Amino acid sequence: MNKSSSPTSIAEQICSYVRERFETTEFVPLHVPSLSHLEKERVVDAIDSTFVSTVGEYVNVIERKLCEITGSPYAIATVNGTAALQVALRLAGVETGTEVILPPLSFVATANAVSYLHAHPLFVDVESETLGLSVDALTDFFEQKTQIQSNVCVNRETGRRISACVPMHTFGFPVNIEAMIDLCNRYCVPVVEDAAESLGSKVGSRHAGTFGKLAAVSFNGNKIVTAGGGGAILTADEQLAKHAKHLTTTAKTPHPWDYFHDECGYNYRMPNLNAALLSAQLDRLDDFLSAKRQLAAGYQKVCHTSDAKFLWERPGTTANFWLMTLRLESRDARDKFLEHTNEAGVMTRPAWRLLNELPMYDSCQCEAIPSASQLADQLVNVPSSAIGC
Ligand SMILES: *Cc1c(COP(=O)(O)O)cnc(C)c1O
Repeated sequence: MNKSSSPTSIAEQICSYVRERFETTEFVPLHVPSLSHLEKERVVDAIDSTFVSTVGEYVNVIERKLCEITGSPYAIATVNGTAALQVALRLAGVETGTEVILPPLSFVATANAVSYLHAHPLFVDVESETLGLSVDALTDFFEQKTQIQSNVCVNRETGRRISACVPMHTFGFPVNIEAMIDLCNRYCVPVVEDAAESLGSKVGSRHAGTFGKLAAVSFNGNKIVTAGGGGAILTADEQLAKHAKHLTTTAKTPHPWDYFHDECGYNYRMPNLNAALLSAQLDRLDDFLSAKRQLAAGYQKVCHTSDAKFLWERPGTTANFWLMTLRLESRDARDKFLEHTNEAGVMTRPAWRLLNELPMYDSCQCEAIPSASQLADQLVNVPSSAIGC
């Protein structure tokens, strides 16, 4: 092995690039939000208005902005991304005792949202090109393990209805969403996109999160834009949008004074204080996107001459480069890379532990997942904050 491809020398090259770009000898975190005078002004404005909680104009403002940014006809703000996903799944028809197809390579919230509805995660492999759910693996699963009975897709092994499929745009790299939706349509399975990580990512000119029946976005502190905490449901369906707003606001029917709630809803609305912060962040999204793209281009150059692969967007797609990602040759190389960089004060992290290995999901049905297993061993995220914003 030549020197430039040993994990330690790749780690050294990455560390020196990070130090040069972040212009610091101090600890460099993986991802921090950029908060400016604009965020401060909006939050102070929300406080001055006295509307800091469950009603207020900023919630309407950010819902409009989200529609503009994504091209989604409707956006419904929620208290966090997990809540958005739970409600989106419920509106897609996920209910007790049904099954939901998930990638094993995702954040735990993807599976938790399914569990909150008393449905069962069912894991299908991802592909290394997109890091997301594999159309080929999903095709095999549908062909070999399911049958359609009067427009309902049934898992032949369990006899349970498959009520949704949740592709996730990993680290902001768009999944092969168009082919996935065609396939799921043929098997009568609605698609709910977990677009928590992909604000600003596109397939062609169309925004991630606008392909499925519904989608969930997150504005947690570590995402590309933050509300402090928050999320949103996206949909093109007016009835679903109305129902989403209703369900996330305790299902209260409009009335000047009467407390009448017509179903068991949730207190999942985004507080106006958080929406105020988010409104400023959304105004700065384009700056974040271009700063990240610049940083990513430099990483790609550094990795060009080594055996580590810096992941880039597929042709025809736009990644938001939320968390920038390297793929090492092996788990051993990854571990050495993690050790070296973290010891040097440059924060790097492996991908998540696979969901099917977590104690609450280890007895769920899991198809063959060779790609997910390999990726879980080989991926690392490197410092990805928007520099200069
Ligand atoms: C962040 C995230 C969520 C959950 O969003 P929260 O706002 O933290 O609840 C869901 N899915 C994925 C893939 C995420 O990265």
